[in-house]
Amino acid sequence: PEPLPFPVGPDFRRVTRQVAVRWGNRTVMIGGDAPVAVQSMTNTDTVDAIATAIQVKELSLAGSEMVRITVNTPEAAREVAAIREQLDRMGVDTPLIGDFHYNGHKLLTQYPDCAQALSKYRINPGNMGNGKRRDDNFAQMIEVACRHDKPVRIGVNWGSLDQDLLARKMDENSQRSKPWTAQAVMRDVLVLSAVENAQRAEQLGLPGNRIVLSCKVSHVQDLVSVYRDLSQRCDYPLHLGLTEAGMGSKGIVASTAGLALLLQGGIGDTIRISLTPEPGGDRAKEVVVGQEILQSLGLRAFAPVVVACPGCGRTSSTVFQELASSIQEFLRAQMPVWRLKYPGVESMNVAVMGCVVNGPGESKHADIGISLPGTGETPIAPVFVDGQRVVTLKGDNIAETFQGMVESYVQR
Ligand code: SF4
Repeated sequence: PEPLPFPVGPDFRRVTRQVAVRWGNRTVMIGGDAPVAVQSMTNTDTVDAIATAIQVKELSLAGSEMVRITVNTPEAAREVAAIREQLDRMGVDTPLIGDFHYNGHKLLTQYPDCAQALSKYRINPGNMGNGKRRDDNFAQMIEVACRHDKPVRIGVNWGSLDQDLLARKMDENSQRSKPWTAQAVMRDVLVLSAVENAQRAEQLGLPGNRIVLSCKVSHVQDLVSVYRDLSQRCDYPLHLGLTEAGMGSKGIVASTAGLALLLQGGIGDTIRISLTPEPGGDRAKEVVVGQEILQSLGLRAFAPVVVACPGCGRTSSTVFQELASSIQEFLRAQMPVWRLKYPGVESMNVAVMGCVVNGPGESKHADIGISLPGTGETPIAPVFVDGQRVVTLKGDNIAETFQGMVESYVQR
């Protein structure tokens, strides 16, 4: 595809249809002029309704605006309504998305309570069988979506490509005078599979404003290429994510690199960061990373930004690192309540700086900032509020006092 115009940025957005994902009084809009939505996925066994409901709640509290759950067996399908009920009882109205592979047509038709309790269905057209059987299974899922007024995501995946389409395209490619690489044919098949299945869903009666598309791959350059292509071939809203992104910093960096390139070009209406959990790791981290990508790009604001210098040989003690990290955690922990009580708080900037070199300057630019003393400096920490130096802290309780000042600032 032709490269998109450059430079682009937060004000540039691909024009798409808008899809509503609803539960009760809650509606999450995807696409159109809606902000890019952050979603996540549970890793509990869906058969364990309590554990799954608890994890959905945790992800929701972290800021996940929709949560996807695996629905892979009759036992899991039977529990979906119970999970929804538990969530409703806990006051969690986050829409649930059912993730279906292989047998979604059977589960959705045999368990109408499951079909009703879900707010959206993820359909993978690459693993629904072949030929007529595949078409029939797909049609059954679309029929259920129409009957229950639910949107769908047609989610094509590099790891489970439509084999019929792939064979056809490989064959066509072999006739070319200059054949494409196998990789290029596969990228083309991903995009075609998504677009053709979306068109087929519309022909089967699903309105076009109930379809979201995704084409997930596991390498950044493939992701960028596939989504640029996809974005030019349709106006359905797009779900972005680098699948099997990996563990730890590798997964975070790869996801950020891929998604930032696309979002900066106005492509992407909802995102999920797929991180392989570390043993005992916090599942909600994928939500935080997704929010931070959007906030770093200036697309959305979720929590006050803590500007902290990296520290260097001038940093005199561990007070600085501890304060920066405790302020960040404190702000994040307050957000579920603050977001409701103090609208706009998520746009606030807090500076925690390590010495006089950039400390006062950065602190003045922030809404509230502190400049801690560096090596050899007088052991005082001036605090700046709205650009003015208001107090100088010293002694052992600098961290607690500053945290209290941040809280008072927010309340004021
Ligand atoms: Fe080092 Fe001071 Fe700069 Fe922080 S503000 S990185 S302590 S020179």
